[in-house]
Amino acid sequence: MNVQPIATVSERVNEIRALTARIVNEDILPHENMMWITEARGSYRDADVKESAALREHVRSRVRQTGLWAPHLPQEYGGAGLGFLELAYMVEVLAYAVGAASLFGMVAPNSGNESLLVRYGTEEQKEKWLVPLIEGRFESGFSMTEPDRPGSDPRSLQTTARREGDQWVINGHKWFTSNGKRADFFIVMCRTEEDHGDGTDSNARMTQIIVPRDTPGVTVVRGIEVWGVESDHCEIIYDDVRVPVANQLGETGSGHQAAQDRLGAGRVFHCMNSVGQMWRAFDLMVERAATRHVHGGPLESKQLVQAFIADSYMDVQSARLMTIHCAERIDGGHTARTEISAIKVFVPAAYHRVVDRAIQVWGAAGVSGDLPLAHMYQTARVLRLADGPDEVHRILIAKRVLGQHRKGSGWDFAN
Ligand SMILES: Cc1cc2nc3c(=O)[nH]c(=O)nc-3n(C[C@H](O)[C@H](O)[C@H](O)COP(=O)(O)OP(=O)(O)OC[C@H]3O[C@@H](n4cnc5c(N)ncnc54)[C@H](O)[C@@H]3O)c2cc1C
Repeated sequence: MNVQPIATVSERVNEIRALTARIVNEDILPHENMMWITEARGSYRDADVKESAALREHVRSRVRQTGLWAPHLPQEYGGAGLGFLELAYMVEVLAYAVGAASLFGMVAPNSGNESLLVRYGTEEQKEKWLVPLIEGRFESGFSMTEPDRPGSDPRSLQTTARREGDQWVINGHKWFTSNGKRADFFIVMCRTEEDHGDGTDSNARMTQIIVPRDTPGVTVVRGIEVWGVESDHCEIIYDDVRVPVANQLGETGSGHQAAQDRLGAGRVFHCMNSVGQMWRAFDLMVERAATRHVHGGPLESKQLVQAFIADSYMDVQSARLMTIHCAERIDGGHTARTEISAIKVFVPAAYHRVVDRAIQVWGAAGVSGDLPLAHMYQTARVLRLADGPDEVHRILIAKRVLGQHRKGSGWDFAN
């Protein structure tokens, strides 16, 4: 990966980019095909599994030595304590190597749950759930989406938590809770008050509650098949699940806000992650175009392939600049709701287009397990519906633009 200093960012951002790129280029990419061999694979050799684990451990220790471990967490919790922009620029570089985030101590959904616990957790909750999560002794899941209600409209969620003495009693049906099979606890989004139709904001009726997996009444029904393969995105029933009131995260009714915090600014990191992966797909496409000969000449001499390269260049560059613009606004303390919605729609779609072209240029190899492109393609597709489907964000963008127009002014693209 070609990472040179950027003239317009701080010295620290450039240092973080360079340190991350060095690990990606020296310790991950040369071993990429050996890096992810585990028992979970259909066919494997014990020696390869061992070598693979050793390679991952080597990267983790190098990341720790470099001071970049858990970059999303404050230093007091063992993280690198990076600022918003520093983290955004770092994520772009480490995403170039697919899966590298886990080698830097940032594994979804644990990382999002860690940030939630740092922000909303009591000292007791931090001790009990956050510390073991950070130390890798615990796994976790975030349980919000339900099969019978639209996830794109969180106000409609039906899982309830009823207060009985010093306990919450939870009843509900969730699905697509990632990491569901391995999680030691779930953060469950619950409706904690009845909606009486009195016009009160129904978002203010949601509360997030920590539910240990071994609590009676929690049933992990199945890992849902995703893209034809059984996954760790799980369907879960919560049936009269009783947990202490002390397991409530933040104030009663703060659940929607907490989810927005998790998703809102977090979308910048998701998008920088996509940009890093687009960058990788782009480089792979260029490499193949320059080396593969078909019909009497290199692919790079074919104008249709040149168009793929040019269109992908524009997709990567525009996705990247939009995301950085959004990150700078947030970092500067400005509202960025329109910008966040815009990157949520634009970046996954651009990512999808770039990977699609890279696969086309690579032919059959493009969909094989020998390259990271097939995995990227599936990821890009999911991103268009997860985290708030594109349509919802398009509506939000249009609402704000039209609202501005009604106030008598046009949109100011420069600010
Ligand atoms: C791989 C994967 C992992 C996931 N991990 C988690 C997790 O860990 N925890 C969790 O809680 N959830 C998770 N999810 C769920 C995800 O967040 C939801 O799928 C997403 O929020 C969409 O909700 P839904 O599937 O209920 O779709 P729905 O809300 O039913 O929407 C379906 C479609 O309707 C259309 N639509 C929606 N609203 C509008 C509108 N206003 N106008 C026009 N069209 C509209 C869109 O095209 C949308 O895609 C995961 C999903 C996937 C695929």
